[in-house]
Amino acid sequence: MVIRFLLLFSFVIAQQSSWESKAVKMVNEQIIVRGVTDQDVLKVLKTTPRHQFVPPEIADYAYDDSPLPIGEGQTISQPYIVAFMTEILEMDSSHKVLEIGTGSGYQAAVLSPLVKQVYTIEIVKTLADRANSTLKKLGYKNVTVRWGDGYGGWPEEAPFDRIIGTAAPAEIPPELIEQLKPGGKMVLPVGTKWQELIVVKKSFSGTISKKNVLPVRFVPMVHPE
Ligand code: SAH
Repeated sequence: MVIRFLLLFSFVIAQQSSWESKAVKMVNEQIIVRGVTDQDVLKVLKTTPRHQFVPPEIADYAYDDSPLPIGEGQTISQPYIVAFMTEILEMDSSHKVLEIGTGSGYQAAVLSPLVKQVYTIEIVKTLADRANSTLKKLGYKNVTVRWGDGYGGWPEEAPFDRIIGTAAPAEIPPELIEQLKPGGKMVLPVGTKWQELIVVKKSFSGTISKKNVLPVRFVPMVHPE
């Protein structure tokens, strides 16, 4: 009995440490080396179980340096891109954040411990439902998932301190700029064939500034007319 318990216990510990050591390696070898330095962001990436957000058949590759398919023709972003976008948003624990493109729910899980509340919208129902149950199962309490078109933002919950888009519209949706708080910041990929990650800032007086920060490749933001 005692031996069985010890064996089970060491199996559980081994499982745990195997993904955690993969996550630490991922942060050291893919993220710090590319220049991400925010300690809170690095800590969240080391402690978020990315393998729980990908289909079980490819869980072994969850911490690899690449995007991965999550079904419905969609992908979970490369870990470095998640880290870069999270760092650039400069969030704090009072922030209300909107994400467009829940996908697997991983980016929302990474945002969760850094802010007060995360609202995330996904247009594909099966993905929205799956992300919602993954996040609930793992105990993320401050993330609200909604199934729908996020192109027009989430007016009922606006304004937001931060907005993150993880699907690329051809142009920045004006509704998203409107739903940004004065002093707020948004990061999203923009473009069709060529995409750039763009940071949009709204000053306290309401002036908008835009800056291109990185060439990227994301799935398109669907916008049914
Ligand atoms: N952030 C995700 C990855 C997103 S992939 C993660 O961490 O896994 C981009 C997602 O945006 C896809 O799931 C796609 O279905 C969704 N999407 C595309 N257009 C959308 C729209 N208009 N509104 C909401 N979601 C959209």
